[in-house]
Amino acid sequence: MKIYFDNAASTPVHPEVRDVMMESLNEDIGNPSSIHDHGRKGKAKIEQARKLVAQHFQASLGEIFFTSGGTESNNMALKCAVRDLGVNHIITLPIEHHCILHSIERIQKHNPDVDCTFLNIDLEGKIDKNELEQHLKTLADQKVLVSIMHANNEIGTIQDMENIAKICDNYDAYLHSDTVQTVAHHPVDVSKTKIHFLSGSAHKFHGPKGVGFIYMNQDAIIEPFIDGGAQERNMRAGTENITGIVGMAKALELAEERATEDHEHLLQLKTRLKEGLSQFDERIQFNGPSDPSEVLSTLLNVQFPPHPKSDMFLMYMDLKGISISGGSACSSGANQGSHVIKAIRGDHEGMAVRFSFSRYNTIQEVDQVLDAIKEILG
Ligand code: PLP
Repeated sequence: MKIYFDNAASTPVHPEVRDVMMESLNEDIGNPSSIHDHGRKGKAKIEQARKLVAQHFQASLGEIFFTSGGTESNNMALKCAVRDLGVNHIITLPIEHHCILHSIERIQKHNPDVDCTFLNIDLEGKIDKNELEQHLKTLADQKVLVSIMHANNEIGTIQDMENIAKICDNYDAYLHSDTVQTVAHHPVDVSKTKIHFLSGSAHKFHGPKGVGFIYMNQDAIIEPFIDGGAQERNMRAGTENITGIVGMAKALELAEERATEDHEHLLQLKTRLKEGLSQFDERIQFNGPSDPSEVLSTLLNVQFPPHPKSDMFLMYMDLKGISISGGSACSSGANQGSHVIKAIRGDHEGMAVRFSFSRYNTIQEVDQVLDAIKEILG
């Protein structure tokens, strides 16, 4: 038995994505920057992909730039906003992904004048928008970048970006949102929501690893993060990962086609696991919002009560062929010490485990996972 319930870390590539990537590997032998036929054909595919990504956000073509993934896009937005837009204060959340938190640490190391404010979050991981507004009021004479993730990758909390954007706009603050976990599931409409930077990563929606994008609003023009050739309209140098870009666009297209169907399926899986766990042990709690509209349907973060096997739980599950995680993949599989769980629960008892699903998971798998949990913890 092999069950993969760690889709918030990475998802399997859709077979049709693999097919277009194989085709690209065979066909796209030229460099997309070359002006000959082989180059031009590749370039045309990249521009077709850009169109698809732009449409997903109601953005214009010139606002989408391909990168190596979410980490690069987030680094680029934060570091370039400080370097090129004169940002001297960053407002963010303590539950952001490490690529945001560590970027801010690096920024402050090299620019001691840049301040950072961490907003409070409640037990469900939500912010208090009044608190954001108060900070922006106080910082009226500063150039502020607000960086708030659209959805948290460990507990799934979805933030209300529409109203956050309105507040930031009222105070002329730049807004960046890490949308890595919501692209293809809960798209942001940038024609209605004024956001300056968004980031996405193909491997979270059944595309390949190592490719992503950044959306950059025309009002927030930064200079390149990576210098070199004139690729990506001089914004991101380096020969384009054409095979990855083509695969990402196909994955996005397929996700859009099946969005409603997938959402319902994911909710069924999640509800089955939640109910099964509650029946097994009423002391089990769930981290993240209880309102389904405020949390990702792709994941369930479970707070198990203290148990002698807690420390080895992920390993026992792994031995049974079940892949789950204790938080983000970057926490090296440890089920203790998640900065997100610490931020919502403080020094807590028991263990937090993230189960995350994709369209390829089944109800039968949920039942098998429940049986395994009962065997280990029963
Ligand atoms: N941001 C969030 C919320 C994530 O979940 C991840 C991946 O785990 C990243 C950023 C990093 O993306 P990538 O793996 O494409 O570098």
